[in-house]
Amino acid sequence: MLTCKELVARSSDLLDGELSFRERMAVRRHLMLCRNCRRFIKQMKLTQAVIRHMPESQGSDLDDLAAFLAQQRRDNP
Ligand SMILES: [Zn+2]
Repeated sequence: MLTCKELVARSSDLLDGELSFRERMAVRRHLMLCRNCRRFIKQMKLTQAVIRHMPESQGSDLDDLAAFLAQQRRDNP
């Protein structure tokens, strides 16, 4: 079973579709049981959608933002 910390660490890969099948299943199982992480992933998806609509955005900005959101989540569990 993934911990919340592990899920957050994988969240950007998850949204980029870069996780293996097994990892995706582990993430999905965690999300079924953990409301906080569901909310976190939802927020990440929204953020990613917003960034995709900004033409000047770069991949590194998304990484920075993901790190920022992960930190924010750690500070406000
Ligand atoms: Zn969790």
